[in-house]
Formats: sequence, C-alpha cells, structure tokens
Amino acid sequence: MRDWESDPAEQESGKGGQKELDEQVLGAGLCTGCGACVGLCPYQTVYHDRTVVLHACDLAQGRCYAACPRTPTDLAALRSRLYNETVCTPELGAVKGFFITRATDEGVRRRAQHGGTVTALMALALREGLIDTAILAGEGEGILPRSITVRDPEAAGMQGSSRFVVSPTVAEFNRVCLGNAAKIGVVATPCQALALAKMRTQPVSAAENGIEKLHLVVGLFCGWALSWQKLAALLKKKTDLARVTGMDIPPSCYHTLEVYTTGETIRISLDEVDPCVRESCRTCGDMTAEFSDLSVGSARLPEGWETARSWNQVIVRTERGMDLLELARRLGVLEFRATPPGNLEKLKAASLGKKRTAAIWLAGRGNTAERTGQAG
Ligand SMILES: Cc1cc2nc3c(=O)[nH]c(=O)nc-3n(C[C@H](O)[C@H](O)[C@H](O)COP(=O)(O)OP(=O)(O)OC[C@H]3O[C@@H](n4cnc5c(N)ncnc54)[C@H](O)[C@@H]3O)c2cc1C
Ligand code: SF4
Ligand code: SF4
Repeated sequence: MRDWESDPAEQESGKGGQKELDEQVLGAGLCTGCGACVGLCPYQTVYHDRTVVLHACDLAQGRCYAACPRTPTDLAALRSRLYNETVCTPELGAVKGFFITRATDEGVRRRAQHGGTVTALMALALREGLIDTAILAGEGEGILPRSITVRDPEAAGMQGSSRFVVSPTVAEFNRVCLGNAAKIGVVATPCQALALAKMRTQPVSAAENGIEKLHLVVGLFCGWALSWQKLAALLKKKTDLARVTGMDIPPSCYHTLEVYTTGETIRISLDEVDPCVRESCRTCGDMTAEFSDLSVGSARLPEGWETARSWNQVIVRTERGMDLLELARRLGVLEFRATPPGNLEKLKAASLGKKRTAAIWLAGRGNTAERTGQAG
C-alpha cells in the first residue's frame, strides 16, 4: 500500500470511463457525493445523498472519471499547476496567510454556522461583481440539503449554516455553467474543491466545458459527512426530525454532535454517530479543502469553545483569495483578531492526523485503495 496520492504513471494508466468509475468508486463505496460526474453527461444522477448510474455508457474515457475526486490523481502536479509552490506545505497545501475572522454583521453571524465568514465573503464577492453567481448548499427536505444558485448579494447574506449530509454542489455547478452565468463562485467541501480543480486542469473542449466560468472556490474544513439515511434513523430515536434546526461538531474533546431543535440542544456521543459516517469520508485525507482559493473552518481560541464557535480560522491559498479577504477587511465586512500562537501548528497536526487515518483505512481496502486517488 502506498499513500493516498497516486503517481503520475498510475494516473496516466488510470484513465477510464463510466465502467471504471462504477467499479473503482461507486461500487467500491468510495463515492463522496460531490456531484462532479452528474450533469457532465445524462448517465449519472443524484438520488438523495447518493450518486447512481441511470444508463450504461461504453466510452473508454469519460469526463465523469476524469473529474471524480476519487479516481487516481497526481495531486503534486495539480498543486504545482494551480498554486505558488513556494507557499505549499505538506500538511495543509498552499498557505499564503492564516487568519481569525468573523462577519461584522450580527445578522449574518446569527444565521451562520460559526463566524459567518463564508456567507459574508460570498455576499461581498457578489456585491462587488467578483462573481455574478454563487453556488451554495441550502435547506432541502428535512435534513437533506439542496444545492442552490444565488445571484442577489442580499439573498446570499441570508444563507449560512452547515449541513452534515453531502450536497451535490458540483452537479449544480455543471448545470449552471451551461447557462448565462459568467463568473461563478462555489462553496465547496474538500472533495468538491478537488473535483473542481481536476476539471480546471483537464478541460474537455471549449464548447462543452464551462469550467472557465469558475472564478472563486471558498473551501470548508471537513472532518466527515454523514449518511442521510443513517443520520435520519439516529435522530428519529432522539427527537422529531421536523424540529431539527441545525447541528455542529464542537472540538474533539467534547466528543459530541450537537443537534439544535426548536426546543433544546441534544448532545449525541460521537460513538453513536460514528456508524453514520460515510464510508468514503473514512478514506479522505483532506481536512482543509486544499484545492480552494481560501478555506474556512471553526476557530480555536484561548477563551474556549463558547467564544471560538462564533469565529473562523481562514487559510488563504491564492492571490484571488487574499484580494477578497483584504477587500473584506477594508470595507469592514469581516472583523479580524490576532491568531493565537501555535494555532497553525495545531491545524497542521490535525490535518496530518486525517491523512494518516485515511491511509490506514485505504491500506485496509487492499487493491481497491491502490487504484484510488485520494486528496492529501
Ligand atoms: C460536512 C461538513 C463537515 C465539516 N467538518 C468540519 C470540521 O471537522 N472542522 C471544522 O472546523 N469545520 C468543519 N466544517 C465547516 C464548518 O461547519 C463551517 O462551515 C465553517 O466553519 C464556516 O463557518 P461559517 O460560519 O463561516 O459558515 P456560514 O457562513 O454558515 O456558511 C456555511 C456555508 O457552507 C455551505 N454548506 C453547508 N453545508 C454544506 C455541504 N454539505 N456541502 C457544501 N457546502 C455546504 C453553505 O452553502 C454556506 O455557504 C464542516 C462543514 C461541513 C459541511
Ligand atoms: S465522488 Fe463525485 S464524481 Fe466520483 S462518483 Fe461520486 S459523485 Fe461522481
Ligand atoms: S470528509 Fe472528505 S469525502 Fe467526506 S465530505 Fe468531507 S471532503 Fe468529502
């Protein structure tokens, strides 16, 4: 077993179509539900939080296989094409800057998961014309999210909060980029950001490919996502599903999933939650969305979680990401506070921990793992 990055030779020999995608990813339980293979052709679709094959396709090489974040990927080559190598770190990918921020607008913060940095940045990017379309994950049916397209900055500012069931964001990008949007911004989990990066570097043909419309990727830190079906079954034992308003995962020392309902907060031990984790997430080595313009997660502060939960940690990776963050600072859209000493090192250690765990799971999968490119 080698690590989660496939070497360039394997990537070259690992070209494939739907048949290979089905064998190596969908059938192997490694599909992340990112949606990248949906909408590129009519043969795959999303059913709840799963991606399913509708019709067989016999093309030897397909865009579905090329874009999938779980097919062999030369991550080092991808990194060197998209990022300034002088700022690349082995633990976190490119790091041009590291910040603690939150939305200045209290309303944005109230609706947000943590400090509202993601929502504030997407609304700002729309308002300033850096993008004309934002793809987000909004409220769907019950705990199942829905990918949404937003063009109005005010409407973008009303969104927020994390859905721990996957949303097929890249499928929505594939749909929207064929329309009249010119500059699209996407909020993406690490696997979705990787799919978009693969699409950027492997354009198929100018006529068919709208990837040049991708102008901004705001990545989310991500530990894991949960199976919709399993999570629904677990929550039904604790509460009426219709009462659930949100969820969060406090720092690991709490070992709980917090479930917010209209009446109370329910705390569920992670031991009970663990069987709901998607199989594909156990083999995922990217904690911080390394293939984004900037990535946002929950903050760690000396005052503890009750204060930290309304702030964010932000890793800026590209010039575009830095320009957006600095614009937010200049216009007072984001508040900044000093980064506590040691935070970046702790984040590096946590990220490395996820890579190690993924490598162990991959090792346990034998041949399947060897054929599967993983985000490192
Ligand atoms: C599945 C998942 C796991 C996560 N795990 C961690 C973790 O382990 N550690 C950590 O620090 N942070 C994690 N996060 C990120 C964290 O929950 C916050 O999204 C992040 O801190 C940004 O906070 P915010 O207040 O700026 O976000 P907000 O301003 O509330 O914006 C949240 C944004 O996330 C988007 N979004 C919500 N759910 C999804 C989804 N399922 N797929 C794609 N986009 C979505 C929304 O469209 C919205 O734009 C996770 C997020 C998700 C979705
Ligand atoms: S991981 Fe994404 S691209 Fe790969 S099979 Fe699943 S939905 Fe399709
Ligand atoms: S843990 Fe990895 S595979 Fe799972 S949702 Fe997060 S980024 Fe995607």
